[in-house]
Amino acid sequence: MSNLPYEPEFEQAYKELASTLENSTLFQKKPEYRKALQVVSVPERVVQFRVVWEDDNQQVQINRGFRVQFNSALGPYKGGLRFHPSVNLSILKFLGFEQIFKNALTGLNMGGGKGGSDFDPKGKSDNEIRRFCVSFMTELCKHIGADTDVPAGDIGVTGREVGFMFGQYKKIRNSWEGVLTGKGGSWGGSLIRPEATGYGVVYYVEHMIKYATQGKESFAGKRVAISGSGNVAQYAALKVIELGGSVVSLSDSQGALVLKGEEGSFTEEEINTIAAIKVERKQISELANTEAFSSKFKYIPGARPWTNIVGRIDVALPSATQNEVSGDEAKALIAAGCKFIAEGSNMGSTQDAIDVFEADRDTKKSEAIWYAPGKAANAGGVAVSGLEMAQNSARVNWTREEVDSRLKKIMEDCFNNGLATAKEYATPSKGALPSLVAGSNIAGFTKVAEAMKDHGDWW
Ligand code: NDP
Repeated sequence: MSNLPYEPEFEQAYKELASTLENSTLFQKKPEYRKALQVVSVPERVVQFRVVWEDDNQQVQINRGFRVQFNSALGPYKGGLRFHPSVNLSILKFLGFEQIFKNALTGLNMGGGKGGSDFDPKGKSDNEIRRFCVSFMTELCKHIGADTDVPAGDIGVTGREVGFMFGQYKKIRNSWEGVLTGKGGSWGGSLIRPEATGYGVVYYVEHMIKYATQGKESFAGKRVAISGSGNVAQYAALKVIELGGSVVSLSDSQGALVLKGEEGSFTEEEINTIAAIKVERKQISELANTEAFSSKFKYIPGARPWTNIVGRIDVALPSATQNEVSGDEAKALIAAGCKFIAEGSNMGSTQDAIDVFEADRDTKKSEAIWYAPGKAANAGGVAVSGLEMAQNSARVNWTREEVDSRLKKIMEDCFNNGLATAKEYATPSKGALPSLVAGSNIAGFTKVAEAMKDHGDWW
């Protein structure tokens, strides 16, 4: 099962989970779970399809569409759609696999799935995007439904694309149902869904800081390095600022924008300016040369922020894409004083980087860095998607405060669950913090494995 060299990203995600299970006492205590791991690692179903659409020059364009329906033990398949030229089956299988255990950690009834297309929304007109979304949903609608599979957004899929796809689903199926999450607020979307992933990461890290410092510290005064400048990065940055922290970097696929000196922070206004250009799918390099930005920030083309920040880093929040922290960058973060790293992105760290973080945690004890994997730290997005499903089913709308307080509670439970499970199955060496990657993997896996056993999926 584990030998799939033609699916490198999936192989990486599988090995990351399997190795933490192997290195814990889980299989000693419950050897039958080895069989469950074999079964859960194969998707229940993969749908692959052709998406043909017409560009503004009346030319036929062809893309590949996918939906990986990985596991439905805990509920309907649930997970985002990614539109990016790099999309392939390996990437969607890794994302779907991670999604199974992440969704389990939310405590809500959601299975795991992921989908998308190698379509590149950059440089496309609104009409081209609409025509693509209509064509994509014309096929996808045969395979999804409010009780079957409920996609959402991911890289390249915002509320606009969700709207076009929802409209096409409704036309073809003649059914208004909560089949997609991340919908517009006036037609079934949940308040706080756009903010949820970024806010959730910050809520999660608040618990890490509180636990590691015995309640003595918080985000106040912390210097926070963030990568990405999309949905997750923007709302993580805004929440950090609200809590009194300083945001010292943001980035995109073309380069990094970092503070020039050791003092200061991105402001809310600057983040809103970046958000506005991202709606138009522009690059932050376009802002970097303006007077307002060039006096305060340094733009480094083709770089990631981690090794380019001036001064101390207290917290790192990778929030762009997979494998965006290498082993060397992990060492650089530690050298810069970083004590907390939590992934807004899925599989943000390479296995080398995780090994560096975990070794530091175990050997340097209270002086160490503490690493939280995406499947725990960024679970807030799908959690509020789950709350959107609940509101749609009950035909009600909760207030901002109601959704935000539920999100906070889910992130707290997610943190405590990972922590307690690590203490039970992956006892840290004396004085070291528990491994949140081991704890979260084991907690998510055992919940899914037990449900699958009850369903007769393995025996
Ligand atoms: P967006 O499309 O809104 O933003 C993505 C950001 O990452 C952009 O700044 C983009 O740069 C950058 N980026 C994309 N691909 C690359 C790349 N190959 N190399 C460097 N930078 C890149 O996506 P989201 O903010 O929604 O997603 C970010 C991450 O968070 C992803 O890993 C996603 O899976 C994960 N995630 C998202 C959730 C959500 O609710 N949205 C939920 C949980 C996880 P550019 O603007 O130049 O394209």
